[in-house]
Amino acid sequence: MHVLILGGTAEARQLAAELDRRPGLRVTTSLAGRVAQPRLPAGEVRIGGFGGAEGLAAWLYEHGADALVDATHPFATIISANAATAARSTGIPLIALRRAGWEATPGDRWHPAADLADAASLLPALGRRIFLTTGRLGLAAFAELDQLHFLVRSVEPPDPPLPRDSEILLDRGPYTVEGERDLLLARTVDVLVTKDSGGPATSAKLTAARQLGLPVVVVRRPPAPQGVLVAQDVSEVLRHLSPGAADTCP
Ligand code: NAP
Repeated sequence: MHVLILGGTAEARQLAAELDRRPGLRVTTSLAGRVAQPRLPAGEVRIGGFGGAEGLAAWLYEHGADALVDATHPFATIISANAATAARSTGIPLIALRRAGWEATPGDRWHPAADLADAASLLPALGRRIFLTTGRLGLAAFAELDQLHFLVRSVEPPDPPLPRDSEILLDRGPYTVEGERDLLLARTVDVLVTKDSGGPATSAKLTAARQLGLPVVVVRRPPAPQGVLVAQDVSEVLRHLSPGAADTCP
């Protein structure tokens, strides 16, 4: 059996490690190629776009793939839509691995936002020193906010346009609550902005913000493609992929 994992997340690496241990199973992880030095998963790795849903379908045929797992980030909507289209056109089973979103707990001061533009519109009323952790893409949504200071954290340098008063912090998780708290205090941050990525690797900032009583603008997740079998964790994917599982792919 040959499984293609669409990766770029910690869960994708965990899944690749599990599948790579299984005798008789071949696992390939696909990475987009956004990061210069990615954390490489176990098994085979390919890097770069496929050329849309048709390119992905062609790859699945040419490489004899028997199953496709979309373990990309919940905000990577284009590749997830392409995976759904390619699975439909090839008849190859698809499972989407979607970690649960974060839940607010008592003491949190969360402000939901529909998207990055909505998040930007909320900021002037919430504070002046912004910690922006939404990744390196899409920062143009904040570029007009000239009165605010932005601390922008991303793995790779962000693409312009950026807000005029921006400081770039290149770093990659996982982070600790102590480290996040120290950062928020040292940079006198007023407001945190995050996507609802879910998972433990980047959730420490939420705990730190709660401890310090800071408001957090949380960008809601885009919906997953319709009609795709969704698993919330690696063990659920493994159950669906195990021999005899009849419910893989609607
Ligand atoms: P996207 O907007 O959904 O996809 C844009 C294009 O990038 C796709 O059409 C595809 O090109 C290519 N692509 C994306 N993921 C790929 C993969 N795993 N393997 C091969 N090609 C891929 O994606 P994105 O939001 O830029 O995310 C890119 C990668 O970063 C994903 O793998 C995701 O898991 C990871 N990531 C994203 C975020 C986020 O906030 N979006 C956060 C952390 C990690 P073709 O059409 O040419 O195939």
